[in-house]
Amino acid sequence: MKFKYDVLVIGAGIAGLHTVLNLEKDCDVLVLAKDYAWECNTFYAQGGVAVAVDEEDISYHIKDTLHAGAGLCDEGAVDILCHEGPQAIKEFIKHGFEFDKDRAGNLLYTKEAAHSRNRILHAGGDATGRYIHQFLMDKLKFPILYNTQVTDLLTEDSICYGVRVFHNNEIFNIYAKKIVIASGGVGSVYEYHTNARTISSDMQGICVAHNIPLRDMEMMQFHPTVFVEDDAVRKQLLSESLRGEGAKIVDEDGVRFLFDYDDRGELSPRNIVSQAIFDYKLKTNKKVFLDLNNFEEGFFMKRFPSIYFNMNNIGYNLPFDLIPISPAFHYAMGGIKSDLFGRVESVDSLYVVGEAANTRVHGANRLASNSLLEGFVFSKRVAQDIKLSLKEKKKNVDFDEIEPSLIKPSDKNLKNELRDLMWNSAGIIRHKKKLQVALGRVEEMLESPIGKLLRLRLLSSREIIKSALNRKESLGAHYIIKGDNI
Ligand SMILES: Cc1cc2nc3c(=O)[nH]c(=O)nc-3n(C[C@H](O)[C@H](O)[C@H](O)COP(=O)(O)OP(=O)(O)OC[C@H]3O[C@@H](n4cnc5c(N)ncnc54)[C@H](O)[C@@H]3O)c2cc1C
Repeated sequence: MKFKYDVLVIGAGIAGLHTVLNLEKDCDVLVLAKDYAWECNTFYAQGGVAVAVDEEDISYHIKDTLHAGAGLCDEGAVDILCHEGPQAIKEFIKHGFEFDKDRAGNLLYTKEAAHSRNRILHAGGDATGRYIHQFLMDKLKFPILYNTQVTDLLTEDSICYGVRVFHNNEIFNIYAKKIVIASGGVGSVYEYHTNARTISSDMQGICVAHNIPLRDMEMMQFHPTVFVEDDAVRKQLLSESLRGEGAKIVDEDGVRFLFDYDDRGELSPRNIVSQAIFDYKLKTNKKVFLDLNNFEEGFFMKRFPSIYFNMNNIGYNLPFDLIPISPAFHYAMGGIKSDLFGRVESVDSLYVVGEAANTRVHGANRLASNSLLEGFVFSKRVAQDIKLSLKEKKKNVDFDEIEPSLIKPSDKNLKNELRDLMWNSAGIIRHKKKLQVALGRVEEMLESPIGKLLRLRLLSSREIIKSALNRKESLGAHYIIKGDNI
């Protein structure tokens, strides 16, 4: 095996794979994946990719994105997303990818919450992520190293030279001229989440340890319609498009209580629906359900085959049965701070893209289906910047290959405690007092004899809690209740 490359990409989701699709064949690239290739959030994405349907729609897409972002978006980043999105999708289709079409061969666009028009492309019905991931894997022209967990970045004098990895029970270093973090979000720090099991904020934690800034870490998105009543670590998501296409949210008496919270009812943005369900359950102690009775069975099976199949496996007869739902952690708007070419400003030769990154394109709340589009658009920019700067000279520096224990015996219990603490303190509704207690406990855990992997989760969690404490007013996905007694 080689240990030196031009470009090293950490992560094999859309952000990593679409970056390398845009690099030249003669570039020497290695892709790293922590587990099997499909264990990433991209693979599990259901709803689709939001993209302006025509020139006129670009300004509406911008408006909807900024509106969802609640004033925290970087307008330049949103402009890039919505203007460059259609071209990126056109190119992907030119590569041979097929989104769902009607009989006449026209692309089918669906609607999701908080979009002012139908602009969500999908593939395989509700299997958009799986289709995109499979396609990108088929197109991959560079080697990929599976079951390889990055445990550290090799940096000196604010330059990144490579990564330390754990692979086949061995620790070793891999060097590269350019290093791209495409390692996704933070799902596993929360008790209930929809994310792949590989998504545990390792790289965010490594950045904290290296004083590389994270930003907006209080901005965590909770998906309102998740089936959480089974033992699986990754909870079954019930796509936003279900509500976009008419599904209702009801309590056990059939009451559509969402209208008490927002006039848009089921089509309110995610944060509002999540907070409403959480609050209503707490206040009334009633169960909440997704009601799919508006769908005709044949259509439902064809349009939402994955949900139909997965729920059928656990005993639900769709679209007839009501599905009990709860919000669950879904997406991290906060992440590793970068500029609009994915450059990590404080460290030379280091990039970040996809859910791991924070360009403020989503602001305080991501508009549904904008993250796959972010993966398409910003990875192209990263590839473009790498191509321009790859020829620059970079000195060779060797780092030792010593790594402290990755796992210690007490880690499992502490990891579970952390997930519970994050869900109850830094979850959908936050209270200052609870956040302070959580911060104290995280600091205690960091002082105890723990393995490095848990340390990384704790460092990321601490950033989420600290950011939540620093933002005193509710904004977007961050909902904080004031008052010292709570
Ligand atoms: C159930 C679900 C449904 C969704 N539906 C939609 C949708 O319809 N539309 C939409 O726009 N968005 C959707 N999203 C969000 C979207 O899928 C993700 O934001 C996006 O796919 C993230 O892509 P990514 O490439 O940044 O990360 P991921 O696809 O999560 O890939 C991360 C990669 O990094 C690797 N990795 C992580 N840590 C390490 C490490 N330490 N060392 C080495 N490798 C590492 C992982 O193995 C993986 O290969 C959904 C998310 C979920 C969970």
